[in-house]
Amino acid sequence: MITNKNIDEAIGKIKKSIKNFEKPVLEKFNKKINDPYWTLISCLLSLRTKDAITEEVTEKLYKIARTQQQILKLPLKKLKKIIYKTGFYNNKARVIKKVTEKILYDFKGKVPDTLEKLLLLPGVGRKTANLVLTEGFNKMGICVDTHVHKIFNRLGYVKTKTPDETEIILRQKLPKKYWKKINNYLVIFGQNICLSVSPFCSKCPINNECPKIGVKKNR
Ligand code: SF4
Repeated sequence: MITNKNIDEAIGKIKKSIKNFEKPVLEKFNKKINDPYWTLISCLLSLRTKDAITEEVTEKLYKIARTQQQILKLPLKKLKKIIYKTGFYNNKARVIKKVTEKILYDFKGKVPDTLEKLLLLPGVGRKTANLVLTEGFNKMGICVDTHVHKIFNRLGYVKTKTPDETEIILRQKLPKKYWKKINNYLVIFGQNICLSVSPFCSKCPINNECPKIGVKKNR
């Protein structure tokens, strides 16, 4: 079981085990572009999409329409065509337009930098809002996606039903030094070792400590 007594050791081992794996796309893209608006757009595009597709489509869109004004001028049909590959493109295109409009007119073109205000943006939930805070503004936040939610439950560190619930519990117990980075660590760990279906427990550095809660089959 992982508790606050051994969390430092567990995260240390996880960090070491992911050193040689590819970094999440959003982290790489954000380092390159360094603009919270594009952190937000890439995050909206990444929903239920593979990393490589998100990267390709975000860069394509960025080259075609770099500013908020250019995104708004882009005909909806054309925007849908550009982002088609990411799936759910009808909804994503509409959300991108609405979010951009709200930022441009209600926030004078500046992406808000607080959780409360980010949650006012259409189509932006807690996961996206936290990611914009941590990756776009380097501010405190805990981005809980399916990997973070799943892994902390398997470890027995939380016992929750939804990612939003996990975030609330993590805000109460996870040491603050891990808040900003935990998503990056666990996305890589979840994509390569602690897979959703049949995780590689035999290769896992915390195999002995992990109670594997909810894991039906492992390798
Ligand atoms: S891979 Fe297995 S042992 Fe490692 S954290 Fe996931 S469930 Fe636990």
